[in-house]
Amino acid sequence: MRRLARGHPRVILPHVVQSPLLRSVPGFYHAFAGVDPARRGSREILRQAFSVPPSRVGTLRQIHSGIALEMEETDGDVPGRRWRVGDAIWTAAPGTGVGVRTADCVPVLLAHRELPVCAAIHAGWRGLVAGVVEETVRCIAARFGQDAVSGLVAAAGPSAKGCCYEVGEEVAGNLGECPGGPLHVAKGMGAGKWNADLPSLALEALFAAGLPRGRAEAVGPCTVCSPRFHSFRREKSLTGRQLSFIYKVDFSDGFTTPTGQETR
Ligand SMILES: [Zn+2]
Repeated sequence: MRRLARGHPRVILPHVVQSPLLRSVPGFYHAFAGVDPARRGSREILRQAFSVPPSRVGTLRQIHSGIALEMEETDGDVPGRRWRVGDAIWTAAPGTGVGVRTADCVPVLLAHRELPVCAAIHAGWRGLVAGVVEETVRCIAARFGQDAVSGLVAAAGPSAKGCCYEVGEEVAGNLGECPGGPLHVAKGMGAGKWNADLPSLALEALFAAGLPRGRAEAVGPCTVCSPRFHSFRREKSLTGRQLSFIYKVDFSDGFTTPTGQETR
């Protein structure tokens, strides 16, 4: 790693987008990370760029399902880790976090204004149709009570938007029945082609699940348009995926909140 003249190690950051709404919730740190100039994996990005122990950030083997799971210790990057299958993960343990990997699908991060709970959701069109967003909110309501839902704050990160996300009749039909479908699935240019705005559909799913309007926002560019974020459709490969994560800061645990750096 190159060093600056004064001898401090130079920290190379991936492109990052943050949500002003989520940043307004005290006690949480989050990032929607994009393309990493240093080409590191999730483990090194967490450790080197964000000073977050990868062992404390739970992730799942994502399968485009509606499955939401509470984080267990072995969901972190630990010796003997167990890759559980699911597309949303939440935690209520301070000093832990959760993350998802995406490339065009929507990463959704949630935090609570009073309770120590946060969640990360991977939602492509299959996940939206399977109700993964609503299921995550239901899990939190099952633990903390239905009243807790109104204290949730959420952000949908960089993902494929209506400008680029073309789908066929069948997918359009399925998405059209999701909350906000008639608004955010529009007739495309070609015959039998439709354009869907994934982040807007994710937001509508959050509102349908009970989040008050104004407590969820979409941030960041369309991943197909922006070279700063990995795109399955643009790169034609799933080798590059971006990590989005959120964690509850626990100062007694020696965690420090890294300074946010944004790339627009
Ligand atoms: Zn686009």
